[in-house]
Amino acid sequence: MNKGGIFVVSGPSGSGKDTLLSQLFKKCPEIKFSISSVTRPMRAGEKEGEKYNFISRKEFEEMLQRDELLEHNVYVGNYYGTPKTPVLNASKNGDDIIIEVDVNGAKQIREKLPQAVSIFIMPPSFAELEKRLSGRGTETEEVIAERMNSALFEIERATEYDYIVVNDDIDTAVDDIIQIISGSRLMLKRQKHIIDEVLNYVKS
Ligand code: ADP
Ligand code: 5GP
Repeated sequence: MNKGGIFVVSGPSGSGKDTLLSQLFKKCPEIKFSISSVTRPMRAGEKEGEKYNFISRKEFEEMLQRDELLEHNVYVGNYYGTPKTPVLNASKNGDDIIIEVDVNGAKQIREKLPQAVSIFIMPPSFAELEKRLSGRGTETEEVIAERMNSALFEIERATEYDYIVVNDDIDTAVDDIIQIISGSRLMLKRQKHIIDEVLNYVKS
């Protein structure tokens, strides 16, 4: 069986990652999502085990000691990390999987899994990002200010990514991500088994 694709998605807080990915999973339910472990408090509307496993700092540090994380980072005072096994299993089973991480997490994944395809979600402007982040109404003014500071530094690192998707119109941005995933499924490295099958049939 051929290996599944690993897609890393990043973008500043409020750029629309959750909005785009939830639309994407409706259109492409076969694509898997990597559930992160996090020590930040649960937001209104979030559910345990959907996007995150909410754990204590002690539990996170134990996972680190057991080398169970593919990558991790501290973002605005909290630990965020990607458990290794679900990502490697999905890829081994031929499933495409999306990992949503910040820019530091993306760098760690590229180093460990160079075959990963990385996508950066850009807001149409900085003003629009601030409007969306405040409009979401899930963070205090202080946290919003910290996240806007972090956004500047993250957008500067967008050049490290394979693809840039501007989230202006939601449907267009979702289609852009689907095209990236579809294109990657057609790459030689993911289709070698078909060439082998055809040649083996002729030769046998
Ligand atoms: P992230 O997951 O990147 O932090 P969200 O998906 O939570 O961002 O989006 C932040 C806010 O912006 C949400 O209130 C969402 O409804 C809104 N939003 C997302 N994409 C768009 C868009 N293309 N146009 C207008 N508002 C958007
Ligand atoms: P939020 O608190 O808004 O859900 O996420 C804050 C930031 O952490 C976002 O940039 C998000 O992409 C990133 N993030 C989410 N999960 C992970 C993870 O497992 N690892 C890393 N490094 N970053 C993550």
